[in-house]
Amino acid sequence: MAAPIKTDVAIVGAGIIGLAIAFRLAAEGREVVVIDPNEPGSGASYGNAGAIAPYGCAPIGNPDVLRTLPSLLFASDSPLAIRLAGLPALLPWLSRFVWQSMPARARRNGHALAGLLKEAIPAWRDLATQAGVSDLFRHEGCLYFYREKMPAGDSEWAARLRDELGVRHDRLTPGEVARLEPALPPAAGGVFFPDAAHIVDPGALTRRLAAAAEARGASLQRSRVEQLEPGNGGHVTLTCRDLVVDARAVVLAAGAWSRSLARQGGESVPLDTERGYHIEFAMEACPIKRPVSPVDLGFYITPMEGRLRVAGTVELGGLSAPLNPDRIAVLERGVRKLFPDLGPVQTQWLGFRPSLPDSLPVIGPSRRYPNVILAFGHGHLGMTLAGATSRIVASLIENQNDVSSFPAFRPDRFS
Ligand SMILES: Cc1cc2nc3c(=O)[nH]c(=O)nc-3n(C[C@H](O)[C@H](O)[C@H](O)COP(=O)(O)OP(=O)(O)OC[C@H]3O[C@@H](n4cnc5c(N)ncnc54)[C@H](O)[C@@H]3O)c2cc1C
Repeated sequence: MAAPIKTDVAIVGAGIIGLAIAFRLAAEGREVVVIDPNEPGSGASYGNAGAIAPYGCAPIGNPDVLRTLPSLLFASDSPLAIRLAGLPALLPWLSRFVWQSMPARARRNGHALAGLLKEAIPAWRDLATQAGVSDLFRHEGCLYFYREKMPAGDSEWAARLRDELGVRHDRLTPGEVARLEPALPPAAGGVFFPDAAHIVDPGALTRRLAAAAEARGASLQRSRVEQLEPGNGGHVTLTCRDLVVDARAVVLAAGAWSRSLARQGGESVPLDTERGYHIEFAMEACPIKRPVSPVDLGFYITPMEGRLRVAGTVELGGLSAPLNPDRIAVLERGVRKLFPDLGPVQTQWLGFRPSLPDSLPVIGPSRRYPNVILAFGHGHLGMTLAGATSRIVASLIENQNDVSSFPAFRPDRFS
């Protein structure tokens, strides 16, 4: 094996989180090496719904989800499914999830998430401008679409939390929904989030962010990190199959695959995955202008470059099982309820959200090795929170002891 590559900061994982951090650090003049066995942005950051959702403060684990869990599990075409074969391995995560869904905990998690979400759009604007990728963002808001019944304003836990936190939203009448998105079928009503944005090609965003980081001097290495251990002089050694990297600091941003490396870095984090799916329909001009979520169906329909993408739903069942065609069929039947004349499905995709039971990411240094910084577990909000996360990680790299400002995201909060 060749001599170790020496660097200031090594980043494990070239998804949106790793690349946003890589770009920011490289732009600040730091020496950065990013390591990933795959093309940049080929994990969850490729196939998501592309919504930048600063309104997404309600954690997935909340009292409403607990209340509706039985019907979610047994309804046909439900947005939630559990692979029975994976259930035993999932039980520890699920029991923590139930605990975190209790009212007081869910509220506390929502407040922590909202603090980070406030930074989402300003941080992305700044990062996208510097990296020259602003053309991939549209600032058109996002629409929750209610097909049959519009819930009363304060009847849902998530809606009450958004009110409490002052998240901007407008309740729309059926006529207002029709004026906003004329191609949709008649609605019972809608909720419009004016501060939301969307990405017209998440894969292109990650690839271009990688190129922008390289242009600022970052080096991208195609390899899988197999071992993380303390090196000489307080450094960290990353061993890959064909490469060794010796870094002053390491950022672990390997998405849903971060758990075992985090353990080697001294932290036991209850990370699992919420599997999600997308299908796409090729088209020149999309029938909608902004992401639309038919709330009862549990997915988003997002207008993207040259295609309409339908992405979402949750399947609990681990990282190794193949794509489940039943989940694809659920998405297809669902979107055809809104747009019956869509052509054939062009692409199908399965991706792995990195998810913690409290719906909060892990952002902070390992207790055992303070120069190993963990940055993963962004669940349903990684595209939204990548810019804000990169700011925090850059400040932690600058001053590794300054963890007091972000206690809700500490890696050791479950121990
Ligand atoms: C269906 C779906 C819809 C979604 N919609 C939205 C949305 O609308 N808005 C939003 O904000 N978020 C959304 N998300 C969530 C978002 O996509 C994720 O939170 C985000 O992409 C996670 O980014 P990441 O960089 O942590 O992980 P990833 O993009 O998965 O990247 C992790 C990288 O680590 C690499 N890696 C793994 N192991 C190793 C190793 N040992 N060594 C080196 N590299 C390694 C992988 O190859 C991969 O490239 C959605 C997710 C899904 C699945």
